[in-house]
Amino acid sequence: MPKTNTVLTIPEPKRVALKQKPFPKIAPGYSLMKVEIAPVCIEHQVYLEHRMEWHSDEEHQGHEGVGTICEVLPGSRFKVGDRVIMYQGNPCQECFVCTRGLSPTHCMEIPYELFAEAGTQDPRANLDILQQLGVESPLDVPGGLKDIENKCGSESGGFGFSQYRIGPDHMIQKIPDDLPFRYAALANCSLGCTYTGIEEMGVKKDDWVIVAGVGFIGFGSIINAKYRGARVIVLGRNPFRMEQAKKMGADYIVNPDDEDWLEQIHALTGDLKGADHVIEASGYPYYQKKCLKAVRRFGNMWLYGFLVENNEPLPIHLLDEIHNRGVKLSGNHDVHVKHREGLLRMLCNPEVQRMADHLITHEYNMSEGAEAFEAALSKKAGKIFLYPQENCPNSGPSASLRELESAVR
Ligand SMILES: [Zn+2]
Ligand SMILES: [Zn+2]
Repeated sequence: MPKTNTVLTIPEPKRVALKQKPFPKIAPGYSLMKVEIAPVCIEHQVYLEHRMEWHSDEEHQGHEGVGTICEVLPGSRFKVGDRVIMYQGNPCQECFVCTRGLSPTHCMEIPYELFAEAGTQDPRANLDILQQLGVESPLDVPGGLKDIENKCGSESGGFGFSQYRIGPDHMIQKIPDDLPFRYAALANCSLGCTYTGIEEMGVKKDDWVIVAGVGFIGFGSIINAKYRGARVIVLGRNPFRMEQAKKMGADYIVNPDDEDWLEQIHALTGDLKGADHVIEASGYPYYQKKCLKAVRRFGNMWLYGFLVENNEPLPIHLLDEIHNRGVKLSGNHDVHVKHREGLLRMLCNPEVQRMADHLITHEYNMSEGAEAFEAALSKKAGKIFLYPQENCPNSGPSASLRELESAVR
C-alpha cells in the first residue's frame, strides 16, 4: 500500500491542486476502496464560486464513486478485490429513515430542520447551529463524509475525489463482474437519485413524463423514465441539450418560450390535459411555474432542482395549483437503500447502457480536474468522470459528444 493518499483540492475559485494526505485508516464496520471513478456532481459550482455545501470545504470534495476493495477488517462482509459502488454519507442506521431503507442523506442525524430555521444550508453562516450540535466545524455534523474520517481516526479518505476512500460497510454495494465501472458509477447522483424519484412517483409504461430544465439530473430522469416504458416530453431551450436529450430517448421536445407551449403539452397528453409526472431539475422559478401548469390533475411533481444561493419560497398558488387540482409535490437528493437492488439491475440493462453512453460526456484524470470542471460549466456536458488512479482511457470529451457537436454545428 502507498504511504499517502492523493486528493483533489479547490484552494481558491478556478484553481485545482492535488494534495498528498496521510494514507487512510479504517475502524471496524468500515472498508477501504481504491477509487477507480469519482464522478463530478456539483463541484464545478464550488470551482466557479467557492460556495460550499455544509459537508464540504476546499480540501474535502467529491461524494460519488466506484472502485475495488483494498483493505478490510476481520468480520467484514467484503473481501479484497471486490468491485463495488460506494454511496455517500455516514447515516446512523437507527432512526426511522435508516431503518425503513430510505435515503441515507436524509438520515435524522442531519439537522435539516435547524438549517431551515436558520434560513441557510450553510451552518458557517449561523454559528448557533454548530453550538446546538456541539461541533466546531459544519463538516463534523454527524452523517456527513468528514464524520467517516472522524469515526476512523483517519486524516483522509472520507471524500470522493481521492485515490483511496473509506466507506461504512452498509454504504457499499458489490457489483457483478460483468458490469463495467463506467455504468456502475452512475448509481449515485445521476441514475441513482432519479431512480428513487421515478420509483416513488410510480412511473409506469405509457405514462406521460415531463422533464424540465435538463442537466445531468434531467438526463438521468429521462433514462429512468424510458427504462419504465414511459413517454417523455422534455421542456427545454438549449438546442444542444435538446439534441442530447433525444439521444437519451426523449420522445418530444417542447420549448417553454413558445407562446403555445402549454397547448403543445395538452395536444400530446389528450384528455389528461397534462403529464402524469413532472420532474423539475433546474431549481429556477421559471421552470417551477411551467411545471405546475404542465402537471395533470392528481399528477405528481418532483423537484430535484435547487439553488444553494436561493432561499426564495416556491412560486405556488396553493388553491388553484395544488388543492383544486390534487397535485402531489415532493423531492429528494439521494437513492433509497431499498432501491439499490433494482437500481443495480437497471445499470446492467444493455439499452440503459446505450443511453448512458450519451449521458457520460467527458472523462479526465483527477490531475485534469480543472478541465473537467470547465467542461461541466460549458453547458455542453452530461455526467463527467474523474479517474483518481490517473488511468483515464480517453481523456476529454466522449466520441458521442464530439459526433453530436459536429452534427449540431
Ligand atoms: Zn452528487
Ligand atoms: Zn439515520
